[in-house]
Amino acid sequence: MTRLIQARLINEPFDDPGLFLDFRFSRRALLFDLGDLGPLSTREIMRVTDVFVSHAHVDHFIGFDRMLRHLLHRPGPVNITGPVGFIARVEGRLGGYSWNLLDGNSVDFRIVVQEFSGDRVTARAEFRAREAFRRRELDPPDLPPSRVLQEEAFSVEAAEFDHAIPSLSFALQEKISVNVWTPGLTRLRLPVGPWLNEAKRAARQELPDETSIHVATGWEVPLGELREHVFRQGPGQRIAYLVDMAFQPENRRRAVNLARGADQLFIEAGFLNEDAALAHGHRHLTAAEAGIIAREAGVNRAIPFHFSARYFEREQELRDELEKAFANPVATFTPG
Ligand SMILES: [Zn+2]
Ligand SMILES: [Zn+2]
Repeated sequence: MTRLIQARLINEPFDDPGLFLDFRFSRRALLFDLGDLGPLSTREIMRVTDVFVSHAHVDHFIGFDRMLRHLLHRPGPVNITGPVGFIARVEGRLGGYSWNLLDGNSVDFRIVVQEFSGDRVTARAEFRAREAFRRRELDPPDLPPSRVLQEEAFSVEAAEFDHAIPSLSFALQEKISVNVWTPGLTRLRLPVGPWLNEAKRAARQELPDETSIHVATGWEVPLGELREHVFRQGPGQRIAYLVDMAFQPENRRRAVNLARGADQLFIEAGFLNEDAALAHGHRHLTAAEAGIIAREAGVNRAIPFHFSARYFEREQELRDELEKAFANPVATFTPG
């Protein structure tokens, strides 16, 4: 099945963390983390509408300037989610430059920043190019707990983790996928047309079968009939991105919860088990701990990244430790 959204790591696993989520059928992309964005083309960066930053350690946030440089003359806003205190971080980065060339005639580029803390978005502010990026407070959006973005076709969830500082991880959940089966349309003698978009939307919203779908003037068809003959529905994919967290019970519970049932779990796996003490000192996961979380969450595939440079010659060992813990109900090593 063709996936609406395709995810790929921006860098090699020893370089900065970051995930690029590309929408196949529209000029749009999302970013999880803002590390080195070097491998992304200008065109790809220009597609980014929403960015989700785990925390402000430099390897997760240094790409902000590069993104800003590209988006500055784009009319569409960029929305950025980060942990508590993040609005001030963005304000600080913007404050590092002179903006005297911006005025009321500039392209109306806006940066909307929201902070996620506990289990919800707690603060929001915007910075407009036309106002030389002065901070303007906004009311936080009205979103359900754990949501940082909610749209018709998908949503993004966040959870907060202990990494000595608060660090966020994210999961994108597509709603059900709905495709049209053309022979079914022919059989019901229904025309192709814009009404199908409305019908697909109703299906994605999981409205009841009796829902009446408007085809043309005086021509209605029940949603259930379309479900039976015209639509091919599949589960929407879940893509989880877990970074920079200590392996402790509450983090583990939240990590498993966020990654549960993911088709793809991108997870930090930076340290070998032999260096578990070091990993824990830095409030990071080992590869084996990443594997335990992947197994407990029942994910389909775990993709490790954010490897510590100390293992430059030992990449396969990191991958093996994760795979072993992912596959075995009883791990043969003891996480520290
Ligand atoms: Zn960190
Ligand atoms: Zn990191």
